[in-house]
Amino acid sequence: MLHIPSGIIQDMIAHARELAPHECCGILSGKKRNVSEHYRITNILAKMTDGDLSRFEGAKLSDLQRLSPEERADIAFQMDAREMAMAQRDIRSKELDLIGFYHSHTFSPARPSQTDITIAMEFESYRQKLNLPEPLHLIISLENPKSPVTRAYRIQNSQATEVSIQPAGP
Ligand SMILES: [Zn+2]
Repeated sequence: MLHIPSGIIQDMIAHARELAPHECCGILSGKKRNVSEHYRITNILAKMTDGDLSRFEGAKLSDLQRLSPEERADIAFQMDAREMAMAQRDIRSKELDLIGFYHSHTFSPARPSQTDITIAMEFESYRQKLNLPEPLHLIISLENPKSPVTRAYRIQNSQATEVSIQPAGP
């Protein structure tokens, strides 16, 4: 169970709406599974080169290379590394834990795509060296624009398992 203040859920949804049709992304922190802070992070995928895109799975890669940078950002995301480092410094200075990452799906359901799982597993491959706790992965879906859906997942061994979200206070 993940506890998130309703205000932070509302802000993640607002962030998703502001960037739509592009995907938004960000970081959640707090203590154990009680979120208390969130950080909006820039989606830099729009600026990536073809070489950077080689991490994406085969079928999707050729599609991505054919798209304009702006179109790419509509279907995937990559967090700005400098902003991520700043957020992590802030988390450490407040003696909080990194709880998870969030991003939006503008036109698809709130469950991890194959690319999301690939990126999560890539992060897993070096996470322990960085001495970071296992993050949860949250997705805000605007598939039905009038009723956004937010879900959280653990991603281990290329499998996503849902973790329920409990809105907690303001
Ligand atoms: Zn995704």
